[in-house]
Amino acid sequence: MAGLERLVFGTIRRYRLLEDGDVVYVAVSGGKDSAAALWTLRRFLEVYPMDVRITAFHIDLGFSTSGETLSVVEALASRADVDLEVVHVGDFGVDVERAAAALRRPVCSVCGAVKRYLMNRVPRERGATKVATGHHMDDVLVNFIKNLAGNHLDWTSKMGPKLVGTGKLLTKIRPLYEASSDEISGYVRAMGLPVAKCPCPYTMGSCSYAKETLEMARALSVRPGSVRTGHISTYLAIRSGLDKMEEGTPGIKRRLVRGIHELARRMGTPSSRPPAQCSVCGEPSSGQICAFCRIRMASQRGIGKATEKI
Ligand code: AMP
Ligand code: ZN
Repeated sequence: MAGLERLVFGTIRRYRLLEDGDVVYVAVSGGKDSAAALWTLRRFLEVYPMDVRITAFHIDLGFSTSGETLSVVEALASRADVDLEVVHVGDFGVDVERAAAALRRPVCSVCGAVKRYLMNRVPRERGATKVATGHHMDDVLVNFIKNLAGNHLDWTSKMGPKLVGTGKLLTKIRPLYEASSDEISGYVRAMGLPVAKCPCPYTMGSCSYAKETLEMARALSVRPGSVRTGHISTYLAIRSGLDKMEEGTPGIKRRLVRGIHELARRMGTPSSRPPAQCSVCGEPSSGQICAFCRIRMASQRGIGKATEKI
């Protein structure tokens, strides 16, 4: 059994990520992390058979790279021998790039809101009990530090390996919670899993592409801090600091991420009362109209309207 599988199997068992009767939608982006999440979950069920059904789930964001990404995701699902469900944002009346321009928001922030919404709504409507993502240990550590620096302490409660849903919010699981990006890259290479070269054409956000950029920067011996592209430089700077700590004290990142989980556990579920519902679509929302509906309206309104916060 590969080292990463042993690690991920331990995470799945320790945090009870899978239970009999589960229908798990694995959100696959075409990138290496979600490919490894799908593959290790499948392997777990081969080694420890359970009454759990796995489906790969992909959101076509309508970008220039979408065609290539879709073929990669299809190849991955077929190799894993699981069903693949694809939704196209266009079918929901959303155009991510157009909405970003209309709302004068970064494409990555609009894209993130669209993905969060569809990753919850579509699997739930199709009978899923859980959604699994490819978030890994380095993502958790970087986001934790960014949240501390940004004074978003409450968000820590959502940073465990399993976020139990209430009402219309599905339970989210993160099987790669204790695995580093490097361990995942090695595994994906060793297994020869199909991965898109660039699932996202944008470089300004904390998307999968940012993580690839770090690997590129390292391979070229470029100082990560010198990559001046917004969030990426922050992501890279924190990652490179964490990697230095790990070099000096092997195992520290794993201990830190377990500490974050313990903190999240002690903070309890984010809120005991169910979130409000969007008055347009009925999905969970903190405001009267949810971010997704505002993005959909902006997609239809077109470019050049006044700034609006989403
Ligand atoms: P990212 O925010 O791009 O780092 O993605 C985080 C996780 O969200 C990935 O590991 C996937 O599990 C999921 N994800 C990202 N993009 C998509 C997509 N287009 N379709 C389905 N799942 C996605
Ligand atoms: Zn809505």
